[in-house]
Amino acid sequence: TLQLANRVSALTPSSTLAITAKAKAMKAEGIDVIGLGAGEPDFNTPQHIIDAAIKAMNEGQTKYTATGGLPELKKAIIGKFKKDQNIDYKPFEIIVTNGAKHALYTLFQVILNEGDEVIIPIPYWVSYPEQVKLAGGEPVYINGEEANQFKITADQLKSAITSKTKAIIINSPSNPTGMLYTKEELTELGEICLEHNILIISDEIYEKLIYGEHTHVSIAELSTELKNQTIIINGVSKSHSMTGWRIGYAAGNALIIKAMTDLASHSTSNPTTPSQYGAIAAYNGTQEPVETMREAFEDRLNKIHQQLIQIPGVSCLKPQGAFYLFPNVIEAAKLTGFDSVDQFAEALLEEANVAVIPGSGFGAQDYIRLSYATSLELLEKAIERIQQFVKSKM
Ligand code: PLP
Repeated sequence: TLQLANRVSALTPSSTLAITAKAKAMKAEGIDVIGLGAGEPDFNTPQHIIDAAIKAMNEGQTKYTATGGLPELKKAIIGKFKKDQNIDYKPFEIIVTNGAKHALYTLFQVILNEGDEVIIPIPYWVSYPEQVKLAGGEPVYINGEEANQFKITADQLKSAITSKTKAIIINSPSNPTGMLYTKEELTELGEICLEHNILIISDEIYEKLIYGEHTHVSIAELSTELKNQTIIINGVSKSHSMTGWRIGYAAGNALIIKAMTDLASHSTSNPTTPSQYGAIAAYNGTQEPVETMREAFEDRLNKIHQQLIQIPGVSCLKPQGAFYLFPNVIEAAKLTGFDSVDQFAEALLEEANVAVIPGSGFGAQDYIRLSYATSLELLEKAIERIQQFVKSKM
């Protein structure tokens, strides 16, 4: 019989997959399912970016590039960091990868030895623990309490540190909670990381989706010491609605970036060449479409958050960024006769035909994640269905 490697036998399949697959199957049967599971903007990529990639291909830019990315793209990314964070990076401190996910994967591969610990705040993006484990590392979880906007505190961080702690992941704005760390919070966490020589992995992929009076702060912009202690992960997937183009990047310590580039040279080689030209246009061209998309998300958020918290047994902090709502629905589940939110979510799909992602996949079992990367019309209909569902079962 076929024996797979131990490495993959320990892999947990994506928890979001089961419900998404079921929703798809129901849709194929002709059932009118509204999917709120999406992890990608519902807008098409801005036209000038598409045009730039087509132009590049027509001009023969269809060959290998440098493994770590085109010099022009690194220059555009460096310009973005200077403009947005006022951080100076050199080209050898940047690697362009096949999406931010691949930047993270490669990073864990080059920094972790067997048994090294990586601190992961709960709720977390589903891929962090699996990627850490694939690299031989041990996830160490800290519970971000809802009372603290799902964010970890300096005291919590201190008590999670051991002699094996190698790195911490900070994801602000957060998927799934939409919360942002403030400058003060980052300063406190940063000091502890510097003191214990813990590498900070700052996943800033939702940087451009910030609402209300909130602002995005990168921990790397707070001081030179913190810049040197941090690897920033970012990309164009969410900011420029380019999820399928697969362009992300990592920025930070030159030794780490070189190791990542060496590893990529034996695994993926360069990210897709036409996509790199698209990404150059994304950063060097107008940022107007980015703001237009952000405004659309904010408008949806303001409308449906109000509607969502009217549902009996549902409470939800108002997200500050990204495009997810992360309501606590344990009371709603109990009111409607379910023991767990997993069961509640399954019934929502089967009986109300609304697909949401149970929080258990993010390490937070009393919650569900709703994506508002879909039209306002569908969103309002979906919330209406959830409301009807809860009321009919109470
Ligand atoms: N980080 C977070 C928190 C995400 O939610 C995602 C995408 O869902 C990624 C990273 C990866 O983005 P990509 O690989 O599409 O650039």
